[in-house]
Amino acid sequence: MTKYQTLSYFYKSPEWRSLRQTLMIQRSHPVKGLVCEHCKEVILKDIDCIAHHIKELTLSNVHDATIALNPGNILLVHHRCHNEIHTRFGHQSPQKVYLVYGPPLAGKTSYVKASKGRKDIVLDLDELYRAITLLPNYEKPSELSLNIFQIRDLLLDQIKTRTGKWSQAWIIGGYPNFVERERLAQQLGAEIIFIEATQEECINRLLQDRDKQFVQQDWLNYIHDWFLRFSPTPPRSEFQGTESGTGEGTSDARRPKF
Ligand SMILES: [Zn+2]
Ligand SMILES: [Zn+2]
Repeated sequence: MTKYQTLSYFYKSPEWRSLRQTLMIQRSHPVKGLVCEHCKEVILKDIDCIAHHIKELTLSNVHDATIALNPGNILLVHHRCHNEIHTRFGHQSPQKVYLVYGPPLAGKTSYVKASKGRKDIVLDLDELYRAITLLPNYEKPSELSLNIFQIRDLLLDQIKTRTGKWSQAWIIGGYPNFVERERLAQQLGAEIIFIEATQEECINRLLQDRDKQFVQQDWLNYIHDWFLRFSPTPPRSEFQGTESGTGEGTSDARRPKF
């Protein structure tokens, strides 16, 4: 078993999940809520809270509860602060992978931009189109889809095999179908993050987006299509086993609204 697999088993364990949950409750300020133990600012969303080990987890101490499950060794911090801590102190964390999904215009890219670090890979089909065509990012000529898909598959393969020296990888996409989403996350050892928005919210954002005013009908179709195909992740009690995750962080499949 590789290092990242061993550590990812730990992060998936009920002991770790419940400790993280308990610490989040215990350390919440009655008025302000949860405050980041690095920058002291409020952590607004559950998905933004990472539980960081001060003494770094390794293969030799991951099974030692006095380190791995010791509240004194754990800081609750923002995603962005977590990146900073690891960069500053040169901690080598396992290369984590996140699958960020949700309807068109839900705010997936903004979420990743706010959370990612400098040495992270972001895989986003829209951006790949832009990289090889220099077109505005709402134009995606279907003639190029084969080329785009091959580039995507190459990157997915690098991510899956943890090739290269990147820190984290973020895969952004619609992924409305539960089974496909889980399968991909499983293959990549990825943690799933749901950026939630209602159909009305997405449509309102589209109507306000001047860049997309000439391609509104296409985007209305994308939005409509996503909600038609969407199958949510079943609640934890009905859904055991296939869940994946490599992170120090988020634990619930369903997220608060973004
Ligand atoms: Zn912070
Ligand atoms: Zn950490």
